Amino acid sequence: MSTQLKQAMSETTRTLDNLNFDNSYIRLPAYFYQRVDPSPLEATHLISVNPEVSKLLDLDPTKLDAESLAKFFGGHAMLPGAESIAMKYTGHQFGVYNPDLGDGRGLLLGEVVNQAGERWDLHLKGAGRTAYSRSGDGRAVLRSSIREYLAGEAMQGLGIPTTRGLCLVGSEEQVFREQIESCAALLRVSRCHIRFGHFEHFFYRGRPDDLKRLADYCIDRYFESAKAAENPYLAMYQEIVSRTARLVALWQSYGFVHGVLNTDNMSILGETFDYGPYTFMDVYQPAHISNHTDQQGRYAFDQQPGIVHWNLSCLAQALLPLIPRESLETELEGFPAQYQSHYLQRMRARLGLLSEEADDQQLIDDLCRLLTHQKVDMTRFFRTLCDFSDSDAMLVAVQPLVSDRQMLKAWMVRYEQRLQQEAASLPIRQMQMRAVNPKYVLRNYMAEEAIREAQAGNYKPVNDLLSLLRAPFEEQPAYQRFAEEVPDWAGWISLSCSS
Ligand code: AMP
Ligand code: MG
Repeated sequence: MSTQLKQAMSETTRTLDNLNFDNSYIRLPAYFYQRVDPSPLEATHLISVNPEVSKLLDLDPTKLDAESLAKFFGGHAMLPGAESIAMKYTGHQFGVYNPDLGDGRGLLLGEVVNQAGERWDLHLKGAGRTAYSRSGDGRAVLRSSIREYLAGEAMQGLGIPTTRGLCLVGSEEQVFREQIESCAALLRVSRCHIRFGHFEHFFYRGRPDDLKRLADYCIDRYFESAKAAENPYLAMYQEIVSRTARLVALWQSYGFVHGVLNTDNMSILGETFDYGPYTFMDVYQPAHISNHTDQQGRYAFDQQPGIVHWNLSCLAQALLPLIPRESLETELEGFPAQYQSHYLQRMRARLGLLSEEADDQQLIDDLCRLLTHQKVDMTRFFRTLCDFSDSDAMLVAVQPLVSDRQMLKAWMVRYEQRLQQEAASLPIRQMQMRAVNPKYVLRNYMAEEAIREAQAGNYKPVNDLLSLLRAPFEEQPAYQRFAEEVPDWAGWISLSCSS
């Protein structure tokens, strides 16, 4: 490497000791948060570090050492420039307003501005008790931390907006959930940790000035273009609605069930946020409930667009002091159409349909009915469609995934007719389909296997999945088994909120 290049690189890379912090949230009034240091976790060690995320912070992944990561993110030392706080927010949990929420176990360590001028929040999840912990212990367990860490990378790989993780730190400290489990800490990296519930807090406390202060902060930081609008708050809300509509449309297009869509788990940037008992479905089941404690199915897969719409109405309610009611109502009324348009767009792409035809919605709905009725593995079905030149060959290929050949054939005939209307040549269509139809998704059993190994001290599977899921559209023969039929025991996995 030339000296010049070396010099240029050393100017652009940083170490954990000199990250470029500029903490803007802490400049808001002191009652927006509680200043609190992380509580050190006992006997920490590094489990995994994500090289791609380290680059977002201008860190050179080859220079990150396990000891420093475990020290800083196990709560044993403060990163120079960090000023940790627990943010205050509230929210609607399962439809009921809870004023007592806030960061109960995660701390915003600060904001790093990288050389591209991007501002990234560093949030340490599992950092210990805060003023908002209520009866909680302030910790996160290894199981759920692995799930969140892997999910961030899986979503990113699919191109779905999400928070991510820089690293995962293990510990010998133990806590009780449904059983004794070991603790871990996840350093979450995202542009935003502001939730719908941040706004709800000030609305329900009757503090319109603070509500405005928070909105101004968000506009400055995230919605710069809203400033020029006649009502910048309305422009901000419009942007939140449209990002959120796109997000939930992508979830529905890929069979993702969030599991706990409370308003405190909704990011104002429309990112998948606060992973808990989520599922990428194996078999396509609209009524799938991911969280076994959600007995009513409030957050079932097919409820998500409606629930997200309802959550947006909670946010609208909270913004009433800043935005006329009629304008908010108009935006809310526009949500279903926005959602539907994003959903159609992605599902068309998954089927290799680049043009738009009036019957496409029907074709897609009927396919979803077929997948449901025949209990089809959605990911495998779509990926298989990419590999064949005509419907006869497709039929043979997808047949093993579907039991009722007649039903499948009837749909295939219509699909074939629809494909005739497409101008793209077959190789182009296949290439485009492979770019939106993953070969790999983070199935619950895959995470479960990695968790079991990690609990026994073997972190290789976590790290393997991290790199596999980063490129879910690529053929990765070493991991072929994850693209095949799921093992029987996958169906018995039960997930709960306890994390
Ligand atoms: P969640 O279900 O993870 O979205 O969390 C809902 C609320 O409970 C948030 O205010 C969390 O900070 C808080 N919380 C969850 N788990 C814990 C815990 N172990 N200790 C303290 N607070 C927690
Ligand atoms: Mg949460």
